[in-house]
Amino acid sequence: MPYVYDFDHKHRRPPMELKDLLGGKGANLAEMTSVLGLPVPHGFTITTDACRAYMAGGWPAGLDEEIARARARLEKKMGKRLGDPADPLLVSVRSGAKFSMPGMMDTVLNLGLNDESVEGLAKQTGDERFAFDSYRRFIAMYGRIVLDVPGAQFDTLLEAAKELAGTTSDAGVPVELLRYLVDSYKGIVMRHTGAAFPQEPDEQLRGAVEAVFRSWNGPRAVAYREHERIPHDLGTAVNVQAMVFGNRDDRSGTGVGFTRDPATGERGEYGDFLVNAQGEDVVAGIRNTEPLSALRTRFPDIHEQLLDIFARLERHYRDMCDTEFTIEQGKLWMLQTRVGKRTGRAALKMAVDMTKERAIALTKEEAVQRVTAEHLEQVLHPQFARSGHRVLTTGLGASPGAAVGRVYFTADDAAAAAARGEPVILVRTETSPEDVHGMLASQGILTARGGLVSHAAVVARGWGKPAVVGAERIRIDGKRFRVGDVAVHEGEWLSIDGTSGDVVLGQVELTEAKPPAEFDIILRWADEIRAGRLGVRANADNGPDAANARRMGAEGIGLCRTEHMFLGEDRLPIVRRMILADTPGEEEAALEELRVAQKADFLAILEAMDGLPVTVRLLDPPLHEFLPDVTELAVKEATVGLSDEERQLYEAAKQWHEFNPMLGTRGVRLGVVKPGLYAMQVRALMEAAIDRVRVGGNPIVEIMIPLTVNRQEMALARTWVEGAVEQALAVAGALQRTSTATSPRKGGAARSASARVAATATARRSATAPVGRTAGTGRAGRGGGGKGAGGLQVLIGTMIETPRAALRAGEIAEEAEFFSFGTNDLTQMTFGFSRDDVEGRMMATYLELGLLARNPFEVVDPDGVGELVRLATQRGRATRPALKVGVCGEHGGDPESIATFAAAGVDYVSCSPFRVPIARLAAAHAVLAGATGGKVDRTA
Ligand code: PEP
Ligand code: MG
Repeated sequence: MPYVYDFDHKHRRPPMELKDLLGGKGANLAEMTSVLGLPVPHGFTITTDACRAYMAGGWPAGLDEEIARARARLEKKMGKRLGDPADPLLVSVRSGAKFSMPGMMDTVLNLGLNDESVEGLAKQTGDERFAFDSYRRFIAMYGRIVLDVPGAQFDTLLEAAKELAGTTSDAGVPVELLRYLVDSYKGIVMRHTGAAFPQEPDEQLRGAVEAVFRSWNGPRAVAYREHERIPHDLGTAVNVQAMVFGNRDDRSGTGVGFTRDPATGERGEYGDFLVNAQGEDVVAGIRNTEPLSALRTRFPDIHEQLLDIFARLERHYRDMCDTEFTIEQGKLWMLQTRVGKRTGRAALKMAVDMTKERAIALTKEEAVQRVTAEHLEQVLHPQFARSGHRVLTTGLGASPGAAVGRVYFTADDAAAAAARGEPVILVRTETSPEDVHGMLASQGILTARGGLVSHAAVVARGWGKPAVVGAERIRIDGKRFRVGDVAVHEGEWLSIDGTSGDVVLGQVELTEAKPPAEFDIILRWADEIRAGRLGVRANADNGPDAANARRMGAEGIGLCRTEHMFLGEDRLPIVRRMILADTPGEEEAALEELRVAQKADFLAILEAMDGLPVTVRLLDPPLHEFLPDVTELAVKEATVGLSDEERQLYEAAKQWHEFNPMLGTRGVRLGVVKPGLYAMQVRALMEAAIDRVRVGGNPIVEIMIPLTVNRQEMALARTWVEGAVEQALAVAGALQRTSTATSPRKGGAARSASARVAATATARRSATAPVGRTAGTGRAGRGGGGKGAGGLQVLIGTMIETPRAALRAGEIAEEAEFFSFGTNDLTQMTFGFSRDDVEGRMMATYLELGLLARNPFEVVDPDGVGELVRLATQRGRATRPALKVGVCGEHGGDPESIATFAAAGVDYVSCSPFRVPIARLAAAHAVLAGATGGKVDRTA
């Protein structure tokens, strides 16, 4: 394969599809030249293959010869030669990777000038000043980039020259001083490198190309790629292009133009230009630019030509393009084009508009593919209005959106300040269930510890509240915190960006979050694409959140964490009474109180999700999470002493203390040691469901056992659940007779509803008997419940959260009618990474060293955890072909993870309500990418 291609090379495929080889810039320059026939200064592209070869083993053999031949062809086309003392050709040497990395790599302009050709340029242009200014710029740029001379040395001399000339602008430096500067610059190079400034164009060219190759691994470029998740092994192409000059005279100029407005998506050209200037001047913002529309009066022909080119570019790329152009003495040159970056609002508008425009005629599928998760995020959450703030520290962006408020350090202080009307940022080392009221009252949450599945992160995401967690440099000390030398006191203003993780002192201006009309259209199309292939549910555990999730488009609840219902200020004391109970009677009394409270919660959720499945997970966390902190109580005991109640709690906390609570008495194990707890929860849920049926509702209930590891455990848990379901139904029967007697109309409805309940329960029982005996009926329980007519459907399933459960999915599916992958725990247990600790402590180092490609708590690990999900899905379905499979870990809202899950064959993903629109879009993307292949619909 050649290493070098001219822009007008006839490739077999459209060059715009060859970005891997030619880089983005090179591919589009070739497309504009060889396909569109636009006025592009001639040039050639040195491929990314050459860069990769260089990185692997130094300057590639044969590259010099190929460059020499391409140079000769270029000189022939231009009728000029590099370094010609009479009429020299000048070229630019620019990087151009597959993915745009603006300003991250190096560029050399005016290459080809030397002591002789500068005189030729002066004569040819009749502009000595222009020639020497170009040479001065070239030596400085080349010296800095290729020869590693500190740029400040050139700058200092230029400043001195300006002072001498009594001017503040570069353009005010007279030619005599420019000649002097050229000599001085060459002296700097000599002193610094020990060699004269290279005069030979071949040497200049090779030096510049090599510098661009090297700049791929420069610190700026590496940091940018890490941030943008661009692979490090792609390498960059290098484009060598004949220079045109927008700074020749007042019939010249340069500009950037978009084919439509990249901020709003409105049709019509948009951009800036400068008369008598070079590209850098527009970008650097040194001079005030004019809007593109001003071209119409200054250069009417060019304006018309440019608009014509814009229209052709849009038709050709079928998208908004951005361009760079130069006018040299009245002639227009196109220097670059690419599909333009845009805001979320603009992306949505353009995608929808372009389906209606005949020249572009996007399909709905294409329109959906044009919108990214980041675009949606931008319109769903407030953002920092501008970038470039001084960042105090950075943590993990745990819940997207930006927030501004005054700093408070305890939940009580935060709640009190919010009650006074102050916007609050709650700053904690980490949060616990006891902080929930303060978190709720805050605009945003900042923690010094914890990862993406820490308490603060999960709770904040559930509410759509911006959060930055694990900002490890923060040290909280009473009513202030420190980051290095900076102290921030209670009441001071702070801004956080829950997307980037940035923390900024003071009040940063925010943009408003208001999705445009096209938001709903794109999501409707996304839903059409994924219908029957990949469902989207929400994780929600109260009525308002469930209602919100439904508004966001959730097709059910994939995870209702019942422990969240225990955390309210009114509930916690009851839970504690249950834990502290000395006698069965006391425990039962506490459970009964909890049942009443839980039933009310379930009623609200089932009502909000009427007609859609609601997966309720029985209690999961270790009980000591409901007890006060042992260390705090120990300190209190040693200082001011404990009250009777506190002493009891202290004893219980010590009794329930575990060294590895995440691997301890939690999940179904809790059910084993406190069986009354699960029975109570199921009764509360069933009573709520029956109440819903009685008022004509259509509850669809899925009861989920957490953290099972084998069939026996699941079978045992099943007996509790079934027992409690039977009991609730039996009680409902009695209730129904009573109500029939008092209200014939209501009673009639209740009777038929109850009949359906009974019928469905019978069907479910037979359906869920061991599979060997009821082959083929495994789905009857879910499918046959009179859905839509007020029937009651109950499924019993399990979370798959441990590697063992995933490996033994086949046997567990004998007892489980559905699986839901808890990928938070599955990731924790597959890697052996504590989900509460490793992100703050070691993740950054692991990512930096390349020991992990991604934080596995953010993007599911496709090779390990993803493999377990695939395997468990297959093994589960081998036992029970119609097994319904979902994901309810935090990864359920992450676009890349959604693609992994779709490929593994899951039926739905479940995520926090505010992520639902993003998951809907990502699920459609996964379907369009072919990740889900012709599956049966199990999402009903
Ligand atoms: C999980 O482990 O992925 C899960 C959803 O459960 P939790 O986060 O509540 O442990
Ligand atoms: Mg879990």
